[in-house]
Amino acid sequence: MNDSKNLGKGTRTVHAGVEPDASTGAIMTPIFQTSTYVQEAVGVHKGWEYSRCHNPTRAALEAAFAEIESGTHGLAFASGLAAIDTVLKTLKPGDEVIAGQDLYGGTARLFRTNYAPMGIVFHFVDTQEPALVEAAINDKTRLIWLESPTNPLMQITDIAAIAALTKPRGILLAVDNTFASPMLQRPLEHGADIVMHSVTKYLGGHSDVVMGALITADAAIDEPLRTIQNNCGAIAQPFDSFLVLRGLKTLHLRIERHCANGRKIAHWLKANPRVAKVYWPGFEDHPGHDVAKRQMDDFGGMIAFVIKGDNLEQAKKLVATTRLFALAESLGGVESLIEHPAAMTHASVPAEIRAELGISDGFVRLSVGVEDAEDLIADLDQAINATVH
Ligand SMILES: *Cc1c(COP(=O)(O)O)cnc(C)c1O
Repeated sequence: MNDSKNLGKGTRTVHAGVEPDASTGAIMTPIFQTSTYVQEAVGVHKGWEYSRCHNPTRAALEAAFAEIESGTHGLAFASGLAAIDTVLKTLKPGDEVIAGQDLYGGTARLFRTNYAPMGIVFHFVDTQEPALVEAAINDKTRLIWLESPTNPLMQITDIAAIAALTKPRGILLAVDNTFASPMLQRPLEHGADIVMHSVTKYLGGHSDVVMGALITADAAIDEPLRTIQNNCGAIAQPFDSFLVLRGLKTLHLRIERHCANGRKIAHWLKANPRVAKVYWPGFEDHPGHDVAKRQMDDFGGMIAFVIKGDNLEQAKKLVATTRLFALAESLGGVESLIEHPAAMTHASVPAEIRAELGISDGFVRLSVGVEDAEDLIADLDQAINATVH
């Protein structure tokens, strides 16, 4: 859309990427469920040749991703990990990557088990401390990969402070923005070069699609990523692209409710004597609160807590005793989820690293949905009272 920078983020989100269909006027982009496009003569076509390379439904979604992240180029992939894999494929043996210490489990697994053996060198550092990142930089450093807030500890990294280290050195800064969503944080505005999403989570928002995205604001950074998307083929499909275009139209409304519910539940947990510790960046005593307040518009619906006594059996019973909070991996959908990271999402993280980070036996993660907060609190109350002693 023209002049979209002057519009509010709700307006931008509703209209992002979508123009009335040229052939019919359909307000919603059709699902172009086609593999190929008929040419009038050899090389004479309407700009569409083959659906791995281009598809109009995917193109509308990719434009929407760029729009809502304050970028210029968007790419949609078969999964979040396919998007991350695409960034890593731009590297060559000997190149070094500085990565956050509390990454999504699958990201750390991809780095350690697929790219480290190919000769890419990874330094896992606490990106909350820019000085530690600076100390790990050398002339082979090509990429910094970070999440803020992190999964599941809700650690906050000052994106602008890291960008101040990477920009003058020509190092790429990539931010996995899955937990915040562009409604709460737009890393390109803080100096990041690449934004990545597991679209599976908040952007899709309805727990019915697995998809990934990369967004940049620089054609020179986009070009090799786009080439790898086409060469390797891990594209988002037309029907999935349609579902996410539909999901995006309510992203701003959903995130408002996720934040409002998250705020109520975080405070309720903090006041609960059967809860030992609550991780939520909206608390003033959260170590990243000041940075989060500066670079985010609100604090989101992801919360983690440790039950009193930090007992494994009680925590496992708790996550199986809630009725509205479904016991499941993933996050960011309209329905609330609960899980036990040490046994589920972060089981692939070595036990000693989990212990160092604080992902202990009694550690529980919530993805707070958009239901009524009172019902969610009543559900947590009955489950905690029945299982934590
Ligand atoms: C889920 C997730 C991923 C991986 O995305 P998939 O869509 O599952 O491949 C990466 N980063 C974060 C923060 C995630 O939550």
